[in-house]
Amino acid sequence: MGSLEQALRRGDAPARGRARNNYLLIVLDSCRFDSFVAARPRRFERLGSLERRWSYASWTAPSHYNLLMGLMPHASPANVYASEYYKRDFVRWNERLGADGIEFQSLIPSLHLPTFLKQLGFRTHAMVSLPVLNPATPLNRDFDSYTLMPKHNDMAAMVDRLSFDSEQPSFYLLNVGETHYPFALPDEDPREWPRISGVHGVFKHLDRQVVGGKLADDGGAEPKVFDQGKLDRLRARQIEAVRYLDSVFERLCDIVPANTYVTVTADHGELFGEDGYFGHGPIRHDKVWEVPFVEGKIR
Ligand SMILES: [Zn+2]
Repeated sequence: MGSLEQALRRGDAPARGRARNNYLLIVLDSCRFDSFVAARPRRFERLGSLERRWSYASWTAPSHYNLLMGLMPHASPANVYASEYYKRDFVRWNERLGADGIEFQSLIPSLHLPTFLKQLGFRTHAMVSLPVLNPATPLNRDFDSYTLMPKHNDMAAMVDRLSFDSEQPSFYLLNVGETHYPFALPDEDPREWPRISGVHGVFKHLDRQVVGGKLADDGGAEPKVFDQGKLDRLRARQIEAVRYLDSVFERLCDIVPANTYVTVTADHGELFGEDGYFGHGPIRHDKVWEVPFVEGKIR
């Protein structure tokens, strides 16, 4: 990417333009592509054609950093230089924002989407569910508001807080937690949440039972941390969470202005026992990279 590198070194100012759309980036935390498909979420799928894409990172913080660079999960194209792919992918921002002339160079030098959007005249907001994205992190730059939600699993509360301005377009990043472990809906009593030892508690057993996210074979000396039946039930809970979120999204669609463009995706996937893995993060496995991707105008 020679020309981009030169432009970065020069610190070229981004081109200014105008945007006609509000833009919502909805990140279903940990939502696997095949969980999304199994849920058959009709309202999400009405946005556009559902794609299987690939996250640039396997856990929440770096993945959101990447999304806030304006790089959506990628399509893993063969026989294409990365620089070419970025260029093509960035043209999509014109459609998302209802703007003209946006290209990867437009984000120079900050390479930070909220900074760029503010220059385009947006009000910029984030509502996040996961504490690793809290407002004290470096992700919170050039946001007009940035809120760690009181509950980790309540997208409906985010919908209640959305507000739009007829004078200025708005950008919202919504990091949604119902699809994150323990895959609980907001009205579920936390005492009823499924517990997986080694996730809720206990780093003290980490060395013996979990190695880098993979269940160690300890020769039977220690009980297995997970049984597959339990993991299957957890996966069913993630699918149920997507179905529930589809109904929340339906309500969102009813209240946002017509000129609103929405991208729905995930920051990474989740392992439910495949090849001995559970969760995400220090895991190298296809299922931690596969994410759903669908976007379009709300109506
Ligand atoms: Zn995450």
